[in-house]
Amino acid sequence: MSDYDTVIIGGGPAGLSAAIHLAFHRHKVLVLDRRTGPLPFTLTPLYNVPGFTIQRGVDILKQLEMQAKGSGATLERGSVKGISGSVGAFRIELADGREYGAKTLLLATGVARHHPLVSGDYQPWLKYAAKGNTYYCPDCESPEMLGRDILVVAVGSAAGAISVSRPLLEFASRVRVLLTGDAQLTPEWEAKRAELGLEVIKGRISSVEGSKGIVKALLLEDGSQVSADGYYVDSPKLPRNELATQLGLELSPHGHIKTGWRGQVKRIGANDSDWLTGVWAAGDVQPQTQQVSIALGSGNIAAVMIDQYLQKTAPRRLGLHLEPTALHS
Ligand SMILES: Cc1cc2nc3c(=O)[nH]c(=O)nc-3n(C[C@H](O)[C@H](O)[C@H](O)COP(=O)(O)OP(=O)(O)OC[C@H]3O[C@@H](n4cnc5c(N)ncnc54)[C@H](O)[C@@H]3O)c2cc1C
Repeated sequence: MSDYDTVIIGGGPAGLSAAIHLAFHRHKVLVLDRRTGPLPFTLTPLYNVPGFTIQRGVDILKQLEMQAKGSGATLERGSVKGISGSVGAFRIELADGREYGAKTLLLATGVARHHPLVSGDYQPWLKYAAKGNTYYCPDCESPEMLGRDILVVAVGSAAGAISVSRPLLEFASRVRVLLTGDAQLTPEWEAKRAELGLEVIKGRISSVEGSKGIVKALLLEDGSQVSADGYYVDSPKLPRNELATQLGLELSPHGHIKTGWRGQVKRIGANDSDWLTGVWAAGDVQPQTQQVSIALGSGNIAAVMIDQYLQKTAPRRLGLHLEPTALHS
């Protein structure tokens, strides 16, 4: 017997949006989250999320959590390390030994981003990550660069750093690139750099000068110092796909969970429309643009599919034996 109709792994916008829909439809829903998504640490405002007029990431998340709980979903902290069983009887195992059962699953595990290393350690950067003048999402944030001097701090490839500079150049007064690792510019990307007129600096960061979440300057290992109005971090975004891999799901070439447009997933080698029943995926872990509203929408559509699946496989006649609640009246 399953503890839950649906267990959602990942309590970011995608997972919470799905939880709101499913719980409102009176399904027993559990959201498990280990708090490694971007919104809990984002103290800068988000300007492009419809319905949330210029609010900090952390506040958007709090409101989604409140709405999910208010709809009747259960939210728990925990890191899921394993999934076994099959549709109707999945077992979800957490790193601390807890276990839950579920009829259906939604994977909304997001992507992992790397932060710049400061003397070889990413932790000193966390004091500044999305706290004041560091940025991570050019598709979301580039208008905030208007008239400002921006340093792209490249954690990954030189090609990636040159590519993300293009939208920033639309708004910034000046854009420079700091290559912090071993990345080299190939002749092709050197030509693109020259065409854009970008200045490239190479060097590892030895310390960060700043306070209250605002970076004032980066000190480099060669003793030089570089400062800007804003620091845009370009790093690889690695889909958190370990659980999908355990379930044998097909991934995209960049490691996202391959899905249909309603979040359906399939096993490796299955035919194009041979979707797996009982498991869906939503949000940044899908191969799609990484934005809050897209995560919210994809969580919602997956939830509609899960609801329809549960209606077919475990029909209920709730009106015969449940009282309306404030949410339902
Ligand atoms: C600094 C920053 C600023 C941004 N600004 C904007 C912006 O202005 N506008 C905008 O639209 N978008 C912005 N984004 C992008 C936006 O935050 C993401 O697109 C969105 O959060 C994706 O939602 P999600 O639910 O798919 O994944 P996430 O928000 O990443 O949530 C996934 C959750 O799953 C959890 N998880 C993963 N694996 C497990 C596991 N095994 N067990 C338990 N929990 C697990 C993680 O801890 C995480 O909490 C920004 C991103 C960053 C990094």
